[in-house]
Amino acid sequence: MGKMTARAGEKLSHAYIIVSPSESERNDAAQKLAAAMLCESGESRPCGVCRHCRKVAGGTHPDVIIVERDTDDKGRRKREIYVGRIRAIVSDAQVMPNEGATKVYLIRDADYMNVPAQNAMLKLLEEPPESAAFILCAANPENLLDTVRSRCILLRRNAGEGEDGEAADLAGEYLRLIALGNRADLLRWCAEKEAMDSATAEAFMGAARKSLADILSGRSGIPISKRRCLELDGLFSKCERYLKLNTGVRHVFGLLSADGIGGK
Ligand SMILES: [Zn+2]
Repeated sequence: MGKMTARAGEKLSHAYIIVSPSESERNDAAQKLAAAMLCESGESRPCGVCRHCRKVAGGTHPDVIIVERDTDDKGRRKREIYVGRIRAIVSDAQVMPNEGATKVYLIRDADYMNVPAQNAMLKLLEEPPESAAFILCAANPENLLDTVRSRCILLRRNAGEGEDGEAADLAGEYLRLIALGNRADLLRWCAEKEAMDSATAEAFMGAARKSLADILSGRSGIPISKRRCLELDGLFSKCERYLKLNTGVRHVFGLLSADGIGGK
């Protein structure tokens, strides 16, 4: 299975590492693979239409357990995934799945697991509970212990075109800052991006609008209200027009920092 799919009757492994420089590509690939693991179609998986596939795509499948880096009180992602998060998997994995044949643990930024966490993960991979599967996502798999890597099937995804992957990551960063609502952090972030070239800025607007569509359809967990999504979509489309008229990237990011968080 070079792609995140399985042919009829093909048995999937219980542990994969998905590698891509793009966070959105890693997440998309992981979701597709999780669906393939749970799909009940007798044909190629994921079928996209069975109840499992639909729940995985909607982010509501009770047997897909997502582990992410914790955030600090300012909403910034912590530098490490600690052993406690992996120990929680060890005990959760003793409990039978709710609806599917297996429980799929999806570890985002697995390359941020610190060494004790990786050792706990290694034990799980060495003696996996019968109905558990693991999808580790990583930008830098070399940060994983050799022993962890050697227990997993490594699937490399090259970011579609590098720029799109980067734009998608930036869009995710921006929207998370919007969701947190901290003006100072948003200003700082936008000021850092003013030097971006206009092609990347255009790709950013496209990626941001796609992310908004994902939020509106429930495919993304970023907490932004529907009304705010629609306002932001208007803002991004205005910025797109400005960029096409050769308005400076600096001015556009000025708009994104000023109008990103709604007025009081
Ligand atoms: Zn299916």
